[in-house]
Amino acid sequence: MRIGILSVQGAFIEHEKMLSELGCDCVELRKKTDICSLDGLVLPGGESTVQGKLLHELSMFEPLKEIIAADTPVLATCAGLILLARKISNDSNVYFGTMPVTVKRNAYGRQLGSFTCHSDFGDLKEVKMTFIRAPYIETAGEDVSILSQVDNHIVAARYKNQIGLSFHPEVDEDTRIHEYFLEQIKGMSH
Ligand code: GLN
Repeated sequence: MRIGILSVQGAFIEHEKMLSELGCDCVELRKKTDICSLDGLVLPGGESTVQGKLLHELSMFEPLKEIIAADTPVLATCAGLILLARKISNDSNVYFGTMPVTVKRNAYGRQLGSFTCHSDFGDLKEVKMTFIRAPYIETAGEDVSILSQVDNHIVAARYKNQIGLSFHPEVDEDTRIHEYFLEQIKGMSH
């Protein structure tokens, strides 16, 4: 299975390691010509403003948006979720805007920027969740499935081909969320 990982900024190596361990062929997407036929796409955490700017400067924005709009399965973590969101409540930018959710950037404040907890994710029990200056989803469109909530805030959701997470499963040992993503890919290719 060939997975493209946006690699212009942020925590892409961790996704690459985890997905390689799970047997995927990972392609680092650093420039427009790296974008090829993909079974899945990962949008990693980092800084959404920087990633958005680089995507335009590197002419990667439109081809990636087309890939997402063409139903390629996407796993987006943290800044990646911000890139997918149709609206950012505390920022006037919109990036791909392909997921009908409103997110709040740095939603836990800058002081309490980072924390860890355990919560359920869909059918998966007790998943360790590491939050790093994370957004959460304030409102979600009716076709969005909520996969996980922490303290009454939505921290994981799925809309069609797009899975958006506030937290960073790639920095922990547990590979279940990446396996869930790969299952979605297998399910969609039938
Ligand atoms: N705070 C970052 C942003 O707004 C996201 C943080 C992250 O990806 N870990 O883009």
